[in-house]
Amino acid sequence: MKVHLMQNVMGANAEYAARNRELFRQAGVLALNLMGSPGSGKTAILEATIPLLAPNYRVAVIEGDLFTTRDAARIERAGAEVVQINTGGSCHLNAKMIYTALADLPLDTFDLLFIENVGNLVCPAGFDLGAGRRVTVFGITEGADKVAKYPKMFRQSQAILINKLDLLPHTDVELTLLHQDLSAVNPEAALFHVSARTGAGLEGWVRWVVAQLPGPREG
Ligand code: MG
Repeated sequence: MKVHLMQNVMGANAEYAARNRELFRQAGVLALNLMGSPGSGKTAILEATIPLLAPNYRVAVIEGDLFTTRDAARIERAGAEVVQINTGGSCHLNAKMIYTALADLPLDTFDLLFIENVGNLVCPAGFDLGAGRRVTVFGITEGADKVAKYPKMFRQSQAILINKLDLLPHTDVELTLLHQDLSAVNPEAALFHVSARTGAGLEGWVRWVVAQLPGPREG
């Protein structure tokens, strides 16, 4: 596990995002920016997803957190190479943090890079990391109103995971209303109903991830 502490990082985010995008392209790596609220289940989704991908694909993870390496330790146990970024209080990752962390990842040896963003429905949506896809994890226990209240992150995402579906009977969430809000905000996104805890629905999500992988590498 490698740990970075990066505070007060400023700079041209778009420029670093473009550099990251180029590094991913050259290495033939699919990078996914995984966003969502604290407690939505981003790390749990990764813990459940990595073993499904690991037999066929080489997976790396960049973990973004304000403090602690707890999530990175979980990812390491799940069997993926992990680099931890501690933002020291900043509510989102930025492209320069990713660029710096990539120095510790031999990208050529990976097919897939998950970037778990800081848990937050607002700030991460404002920063392009250079990842090829954005994915939002939404925990059903957050309440159905969050999509309409925080539309930007959902609008930007190519895939949305409705997680903790096993807890649906214990909530007041009506899936039909949630679907209405989601299709008003982003009718194009691939939508997956999953439970990281039980493993339900993860096959479809994994198939989607694999379908996003770039073709054979350019010489
Ligand atoms: Mg996490």
